[in-house]
Amino acid sequence: MFPKITVFEEARQAVDMKTVALGYGLHINRSGMCLCPFHAEKTPSAKVYPQRLHCFGCGESADVISFTQKMFGLAKPIDAVKKLNSDFGLNISIGQAPTAKEASEYVKRAEERRAYEQWEKQAWRTLNDYLWLMRDWQEYAPRSPAEKPDERFVYSLHHLEWAEYLCREFIDYNKAGRFSMKGVVKDIERFMEKKGG
Ligand SMILES: [Zn+2]
Repeated sequence: MFPKITVFEEARQAVDMKTVALGYGLHINRSGMCLCPFHAEKTPSAKVYPQRLHCFGCGESADVISFTQKMFGLAKPIDAVKKLNSDFGLNISIGQAPTAKEASEYVKRAEERRAYEQWEKQAWRTLNDYLWLMRDWQEYAPRSPAEKPDERFVYSLHHLEWAEYLCREFIDYNKAGRFSMKGVVKDIERFMEKKGG
C-alpha cells in the first residue's frame, strides 16, 4: 500500500517555485534572483530554487504554499493550496480532511523543515560574516616592504578566496549540498567565536 500523500505535498510536487513566482508577477533574472516580495529592496537578493524561494537579505524562506499564503495574506496553508490549485490548474482534489496520522506526519516534516531552515539561516550568516571579516583584514596589509605583515592580513590572504568560494557554493547548492557543508560551517563558527572572544 502506498502511503497517502497530503494535499500539501501534492501541491508541492505539482508546481515548482519558479512557475509560481513568475505566475504571481515576480521578475527572475538570469542568475535566478528576484526582488524579495517580503521586504523592500532595490537589488534582488531573493533566489528562486526549484522548491523554494530564499531571501539572503531578510532571511525569509518559503515554499510554493507558504509563499502563496504570505503573498496573498491567506489565513491557512490550505487556502494557499486551494488558490494554487485553481490558479495553476493542479487538479488536486481537496475535500477529505487528512487522517490524524497524515496530519501528524505533516507536522513532523514541517518541524524538520523548520529546523533545517533555522540552521540554514544561521549558517549563511556565519559564512557571510566570515567573508566580510576576510575582506576587512585585507586592510592590515603592510604599508611598506620592510613592515612585518600583520597576522590577520596573512590569514585573510590565505582565506579570502576560500570564503568567497564557500558563499558562492552555499548560494548555488540545494538543501542536501548545503547541509553537507555543516562541518565547515561549524569550524568557521568556532573560529569566529574564538576571534571575537
Ligand atoms: Zn527579503
